[in-house]
Order: sequence, then C-alpha cells, then structure tokens
Amino acid sequence: MKNYHIKGITNYEAICDKCGAALKQAIILASMDLNGNPQGHLSYFGADCAAQLTRLSQSTLRSRARAAEEVRQAEEHTARVLEARRKLVEQREREWLQDTYGVEDMDAAAKKSGKEWLTVFNEFFAWLDQADRA
Ligand SMILES: [Zn+2]
Repeated sequence: MKNYHIKGITNYEAICDKCGAALKQAIILASMDLNGNPQGHLSYFGADCAAQLTRLSQSTLRSRARAAEEVRQAEEHTARVLEARRKLVEQREREWLQDTYGVEDMDAAAKKSGKEWLTVFNEFFAWLDQADRA
C-alpha cells in the first residue's frame, strides 16, 4: 500500500482523485517515494477517501491537514518574500553597475575595469550592505 504525506487542505472546489466526487474542500496529499520522501506531485481527495488512504480517522486527518496547510501557506509566503527580495537585489545590482561602471552586468564590469569578477561582486555587496544600513 502506498504511503502519503498530508500537505494541506484547500479552500476551493476540487475533484477527488480517487472517486471523482466534486468537493467543496479537498485534502491535499503527496505520495511518498520508496525512501519516504514526499514526491512533488500533489493529489486532492475528499475526507473519506483521504482517510482511507492515510488510514487515519477523519477528525485526525482534518486537524493534521489544517496544521499542514498553515505550514504550506507560511512556506509559500516566505518563497514570495524571497523572490521579491531577489528581484529587488537584481534591480539594484543593475543600477549600481550602471552608476559605477556604465554597464549592465558584472561580467561586463569586470572586463571594462580589468578587475576580477569576484572583486566587482564583493564591491556590489559591500555597497548594498552600506546602503541598507544607511
Ligand atoms: Zn473520493
């Protein structure tokens, strides 16, 4: 029998992957590989089908799914914040390179200045550090 990780619970309608029933809310499960790691693919199930698959009672399953959903949403939020920060750093890098070396990227700045790529890289992050502290 396959084992599943409980990944969360939806607040939108879905179709049960096991029995095809239309659901107002679905339990999100990820099947495990042979080493017990969750696989990337997520499946959606009604509470009764998910309870059968996980061999848990519906109430245990629901409370675990709600807890997992909180973690999932927190992780998604963190990923969005990190992505936004990464884009901001990239934008500031381009602006700094333009202001400092009159070029668009670090390779061009290194070539133009005759410095090592790593030197330019460190200059930028030193500047960014200063700018963030100011
Ligand atoms: Zn079902």
